[in-house]
Amino acid sequence: MRNRFKKSMQKKLVSMEKELLRSLEAQQSEYQELTLADRTEETDDATVRNEERALSALLHHEERRLTRVRSALGRLVAGHYGICADCGNPIGEDRLKAQPETIFCYGCAKKRQGNIRAPHLS
Ligand SMILES: [Zn+2]
Repeated sequence: MRNRFKKSMQKKLVSMEKELLRSLEAQQSEYQELTLADRTEETDDATVRNEERALSALLHHEERRLTRVRSALGRLVAGHYGICADCGNPIGEDRLKAQPETIFCYGCAKKRQGNIRAPHLS
């Protein structure tokens, strides 16, 4: 992999990490406000609980994304960034540009998605 490409991916991943941290922080304080709001009389318990659930799902989603971004940065440093975790082939630069934190090549990601979408089709 070309050094210039690696550098640009690193820059992208670092800014993704920052953005995710910012957004996680904002959501965490929103989540806390919701939990506090739960104790007042006017709020509808069910609505608050639904909002809480939605927010916490979003939080988990972004936390997982942050973990992936950080491990991609680790792989960049270790020198095996851009190698598919499944088949070991290099991941295309276009794919990495679109999804810098990915660990699978296009073919393997597609296979996995298919497995997730249709687990009971047999
Ligand atoms: Zn692969």
